[in-house]
Amino acid sequence: MSKLAIFGGEKTVQTDVGDIFTWPIITKEIEEAVLKVLRAGNMSGTDVTKKFEEEYAAWNGMKYALGHSTGTGALHGAMFGLGIGKGDEIICPSITYWASALPVFSLGGTVVFAEIDPETLCIDPDDIEKRITERTRAIVVVHYCAYPAEMDSIMEIGRKHNLKVIEDCSHAHGALYKGKMVGTIGDVSAFSLMSGKSFPCGEAGIMLTNDRRIYERALAFGHYARHNEIQLEDIKKGSGLPWGGYKYRMHQLSSAVGRVQLKLYPQRMAEIDKAMNYFWDLLEGTPGIKAHRPEKNSKTTKGGWYAPLGLYRSEELDNLSITRFCEAVTAEGVPTGPGCNKPLHLHPIFNSIDVYHQGKPTRIVNSACDIRQPLGSLPVSEGIQEKVFSIPWFKHYRPKIIEEHAEAFRKVAENYKELLPEDKGNPEELGGWGLTFRRKG
Ligand SMILES: *Cc1c(COP(=O)(O)O)cnc(C)c1O
Repeated sequence: MSKLAIFGGEKTVQTDVGDIFTWPIITKEIEEAVLKVLRAGNMSGTDVTKKFEEEYAAWNGMKYALGHSTGTGALHGAMFGLGIGKGDEIICPSITYWASALPVFSLGGTVVFAEIDPETLCIDPDDIEKRITERTRAIVVVHYCAYPAEMDSIMEIGRKHNLKVIEDCSHAHGALYKGKMVGTIGDVSAFSLMSGKSFPCGEAGIMLTNDRRIYERALAFGHYARHNEIQLEDIKKGSGLPWGGYKYRMHQLSSAVGRVQLKLYPQRMAEIDKAMNYFWDLLEGTPGIKAHRPEKNSKTTKGGWYAPLGLYRSEELDNLSITRFCEAVTAEGVPTGPGCNKPLHLHPIFNSIDVYHQGKPTRIVNSACDIRQPLGSLPVSEGIQEKVFSIPWFKHYRPKIIEEHAEAFRKVAENYKELLPEDKGNPEELGGWGLTFRRKG
């Protein structure tokens, strides 16, 4: 039996990891594309962005793509595109980045949170119907940490209740759900393209839809300089100034990066997929931990595996705390930690903050009744922090390094008994409001 590194044993990871975690990968071609825009002083134009949009739409097999300054802006545009407004409710999983839900406030709408499925970490279709009221207009689906959500059931619920479906694909560029690209299944989708995501351009986002009205409404909302593209008469009447007062034009240094990334991405994604699946294959059957990945040969894939997680089963390790487990793995040379995005329904912004001075918390002023969800109302989402941990996000298939990293987890899991005596349990709070608290690289 090998001694755990946390007790002074030899670290499992011995090989230099080199650039296996470096992200984004900036090539000469990307530098040149950026310099070309910069030297032409063309940062605020739209020509490069329009080319990127065409290419991104084509890659996804969609009619319309609209570049935005951020993923948050793309989500805001998507919500406005659908016509969400005063008094409307959206249903959104509580475990996600805030931008999946918060932009609805400034449209006069509000959000009801739904549970996640503890295996996929995506919105639980069985919970959605319980959250529907006569005010519900749309369901926001997040393909969380690149795991495609259960779209068949969600679309069926949408059809049955006449609700629109927004796909937040900020974690899942290029991922497949039963062979279909995520972001092409709902009514509209939005992708963050910020530097840490699997499709990194720099601060940017993009919206996809096949619906001309959604596209044009999003143009009206945040793209006043492109109002000449609007064809629908009722929208055209209001062209020239942005509806609502937002300006979401994509920076052309970002769209220039995006055009090159699009050429590189399918191959990058394939290599990441191979590396990550290899990592999990090595750990198959290890007690206490389980892969967060779709069934093999299911035609459902994780694209670029953004911010990958593992599922923790403390009951298989005599209730060893995830905190203690992660400390021991970290000591083996694999920085890891428990938790993911904290449950949004518990943050003050969704409970007590009156953002627009309307005399009541914004969450409920925008609704017909008090829809707040106190502690205890979404138990799966509230308990998930102790059940997930970050794993290394390999950008290259380099078997030796991957094997050492997998071995670190296996070694700790197999020797877990040694960790029990000094286990102090978990701190009160795990996770964070963004995923940036996690390991960089
Ligand atoms: C990153 C992210 C966003 C927002 O994107 P930005 O480009 O940072 O504005 C939206 N939703 C999810 C799930 C994200 O992870």
